[in-house]
Parts: sequence; structure tokens; C-alpha cells
Amino acid sequence: MRRANYHGIRDIRVEEVDSPDPGPLEVKVKIKYCGICGSDVHEYLHGPFPISSWGHEACGEIVAKGAEVTSLDIGDPVLAFGPDAYAEYLTTAAARVRKLEKSISWERAAVLEPLAGTAYAIKRGGVTAADTLLITGAGPIGLSFLNAAKAVGVATIYMTEISDTRRKKAEEMGATAVFNPREVKVPYQIRELTNKEGVDIAIEAVGVGDSLKDCLASTRYQGRVVVHGIFTERVPIHMLGFVSREVTMIGTNSIDMDQALEWAYADKIKPETIVSNIIPLDEIDVNGFGTLVTPGNKEIKILVEP
Ligand SMILES: [Zn+2]
Repeated sequence: MRRANYHGIRDIRVEEVDSPDPGPLEVKVKIKYCGICGSDVHEYLHGPFPISSWGHEACGEIVAKGAEVTSLDIGDPVLAFGPDAYAEYLTTAAARVRKLEKSISWERAAVLEPLAGTAYAIKRGGVTAADTLLITGAGPIGLSFLNAAKAVGVATIYMTEISDTRRKKAEEMGATAVFNPREVKVPYQIRELTNKEGVDIAIEAVGVGDSLKDCLASTRYQGRVVVHGIFTERVPIHMLGFVSREVTMIGTNSIDMDQALEWAYADKIKPETIVSNIIPLDEIDVNGFGTLVTPGNKEIKILVEP
């Protein structure tokens, strides 16, 4: 079978590899889609993480299973959490797949992993319908946060984003207002819109210093900042503002798949609206990662179809 293997920075090769039969506690999944995750883009640009999750946003159908697997059957539609799911097939522990109990589109299934990360962060940050939010960044994660916040019932959601395409997308998806942080002073704008107080909760979904600073400076007295972006550099923080406004800063890095599935089954939100392109496996390097790291590109979430 064909699989996109990670060989190093900017070095991905689609190669012919063996497709093993499942062991007693394993299943073999025929992959329908595997979404390109921001964490994979980081590995593509900066080198592998200590524990790599290369190719983990996959969905597909079980085509074989081990003798001791009782909870899953051949033909079951599943989410597969990889790694190495940029491939025609993935043989993995049954515990690393999740059966889809109700029928949803493959496009929706393919974006449940990033949605589940934001569902967890929303819960961990204590976001309720009554809160006003700022989400910095309208990439796949920022827009998934927008979906998750809407699912919770949040009415006022401000966002920031430097890309024209993504700002437009955030507006289409129902953000209250979307600012270009290179053109306006975000904390000033937010204070103007919130009776000089600031938002209840700011969510960092970029992973750069300026974005975190905007979050901290836009949050009200005793507000919260939820940090979900992947930071590759250290960030100097204006601690006086943080202390004087008694802000709580919360890091998040887990998923709440039960919550994401509940929203997806109930058709409460349409998380698949973040999908901007579906490409064949052979194009993963040039039209997948290559495009996503090109400044000014118009993509949001790219799905790879083996
Ligand atoms: Zn991911």
C-alpha cells in the first residue's frame, strides 16, 4: 500500500510499504480521509516532536480485526487516531479507534479531532453561553473554537486573523466581528466594544507572542485566557497587566471526543465548514504541506484522500 512517510524537515515521501494484518487486539482501517493537522505542519517545518502524532486526524472503515477484538466489527465506520494515517490502510490497536455510532458524513468525521481539542479547551476554560469571547486566529483551530463556542451557545465572539480569506470565513461562520491585528489595536477595539471592560475569556489559537499579548490585554478584570496554540518560541509577557487585572491563564492540550461527537451527531454545528480542499495522497507534499506553509495561501483545513 501507499503511505506518506515523514523523513525530516520538508521531506515527505509517498512510498510503497507493507500493510500488516491486525494482531489479536488490533484492527485494520481502510482510510477515507486524513486531515492535515497544524501539529504535522510544525513537524514539517521544524522537525519531529518527541512523541510524534504524524497523521492522526483520520477516519475510515474497518476491513479486518484481531481475534480478541469484540467491540468493533468489519464494516464499522471509525475515527482513527494514528499515527501514520496518511496511508491507504492503518493497522492499529483497537483502543486507538473510535466507532461512529450514528451516521455522519466522512468530511464531518475527519474534523472531529480538532473539534474535540477545542471542546475540551472550552470546558476547561469554563466557557458558558453568557460569556463574551475573543478568539485569536481563524485557522482550523480558531474556527473550530468558533464552532465549539456556538455549540455552547455563546452569542458574542470576536476574532482576530491576519489572512483575508480566513477573516472572511470567520465572518461567514458567524463571528460577531473579525479584526486584522496588523491593522488595528485589538485590546483597544475590544475595550471599545465591551463597555471598557474587556472580554470574559480570550482564547489563544495561534501560538505566537503577539497573539498571546492581545489575549492578555483584552481580558476583563478576573477574566481568563485559554492558551491552545503551539508555541515554538519563548514569549515575554507584560506581567503588571496580568497581575493587576488578576487574570487566570490556562493551558490546554487534551481532547473531549464525547462532547465533539454529541455536537456532530445532533447536527448542532457544521464543523466540516473548515474543510477547504481534498487532495489525493500523492499530492500531500506539494499541494498539502507545501501549500499550507506558503504565506498568503487560501487553505484552511486540507483533507488527504488515499
Ligand atoms: Zn490534530
